Amino acid sequence: MVKTLPSQDIDLFCNLAVTVEALQTEAYVIGGYVRDHILGRPSKDIDIVCVDDGIVLAREYAKAHNILHELKTYSQFGVAMIKIGDYEIEFVSARKESYTQDSRKPKVEKGSISDDQLRRDFTINALAISLTEILKKKEAHIIDAQSNPLGFDVIDPFGGIEDLSKKIIRTPTDPDKTFSDDPLRMMRAVRFASQLNFEIQPSTKESIKKNAHRIDIVSKERISIELNKIMASKQPSIGLSLMEDLDLMKRILPEMSIMNEVDIKNGKGHKNNFYHTLEVIDNVAENSDHLWLRWAALMHDIGKPRTKRFEESVGWTFHGHEVVGERMVKQIFRRLKLPLDHKMKFVSKLVRLHLRPIALVNENTTDSAIRRLLYEAGEDIDQLMLLCEADITSKNKDKVNRYLQNYVEVRRRINEVEARDKLRNWHPPIDGAIIMKTFNLKPCKTVGVIKTAIREAILDGDIENTFDAAYTFMIEQGKILGLEPIN
Ligand code: ATP
Ligand code: MG
Repeated sequence: MVKTLPSQDIDLFCNLAVTVEALQTEAYVIGGYVRDHILGRPSKDIDIVCVDDGIVLAREYAKAHNILHELKTYSQFGVAMIKIGDYEIEFVSARKESYTQDSRKPKVEKGSISDDQLRRDFTINALAISLTEILKKKEAHIIDAQSNPLGFDVIDPFGGIEDLSKKIIRTPTDPDKTFSDDPLRMMRAVRFASQLNFEIQPSTKESIKKNAHRIDIVSKERISIELNKIMASKQPSIGLSLMEDLDLMKRILPEMSIMNEVDIKNGKGHKNNFYHTLEVIDNVAENSDHLWLRWAALMHDIGKPRTKRFEESVGWTFHGHEVVGERMVKQIFRRLKLPLDHKMKFVSKLVRLHLRPIALVNENTTDSAIRRLLYEAGEDIDQLMLLCEADITSKNKDKVNRYLQNYVEVRRRINEVEARDKLRNWHPPIDGAIIMKTFNLKPCKTVGVIKTAIREAILDGDIENTFDAAYTFMIEQGKILGLEPIN
């Protein structure tokens, strides 16, 4: 299908071009924007490269359009940003980079557009269109999408357009040099392969494998940005299995790599937990865009290698892997500089609880067991159920359907108990403050003992979930502990 750029974008580029001409310079739209439009994945993130000072161009443009308040400059990086509506425009100066061994900081000089394209990571990311050419074509009414992709001359020194049509990720120059200059590019190659469902060219792949150890010098923050983009892609297993094959996984997430094995003893093997985990992540991804639910899928069995035992009578066991896994989540998040807030807590919680719903697949399951799970999972119960359903991986379709059917029943029971008891986001009707006031106590262990007893009694169904029932129960508990209410 023939595509041109959206007219709104063309107008924006023409406005930019007017400033470019006034400054008697040259500037180009380059990189992701051009790539994504040729692929038919329109984007509003625009990268502009100017052969003179990119910050000066941004400022002059902002002045001319009375939007100086939208201009942000980062002079130490030579970058300026402007936000206009949905557009985010980044301006840089064209540069020529030369790296020396053992330094991540390149020697940077002013360069031409060709120099700048040479420092780009992949052929498909080096595509550029001159802003002046856009303006000229618009004025002459000759935007011709038949003869050019997007209707404009795309400057494509390394065959990026062909690579886009062949779905290939390839470096513009010697891959060893590209990856050694900035080893993050290895993760970017994998990320683009996963996001776009492209192949990495064999020699580029080989070079990644050879240079994989160099990823160690890259900051965890930069690595995690790419890792999260892999996790957010439609089929994260593409990127994750590439990371494993290219030796990046064992350097970034060795806890995952270690799961890529099958032990056999007395003729009994266990499943390969690495590939099982990838399937679970893809299953989750089919049903949900929730990034942290995908992380929970990645981590759900992470405690297995550390808890693996062989018992003569039953074979391989992984007792307590959910508890060990929960602890590992925090360590891994800390190491990868992932957020340690509620997102990490969500992932740990799901890892800890991921075996619980399966234990409820039983006709004799009591309401109190359901209540307990509802209380512990709280508002994340639906995400937990999605994870558990995704965890069913078997080649046998009948088996999968049978297990899924079991969860339909568990969901029904959960909904029933929830409708009655409203346990999502539930707090027991009596809190520590009331207990202290009733018995004239300072904060101490006894307060916690009574509080827990009340909560347990309600969850077990021994008393009703009401203030009055809990109050009476509290007075009784106090008596047992030798406490008298004051009043
Ligand atoms: P997206 O924004 O969808 O993640 P993108 O290709 O726009 O993809 P950015 O990180 O926004 O990626 O970078 C913009 C452009 O800058 C890229 O297209 C590429 O040309 C260049 N680039 C970014 N990071 C690097 C790098 N580490 N090495 C070389 N070139 C890079
Ligand atoms: Mg971008």
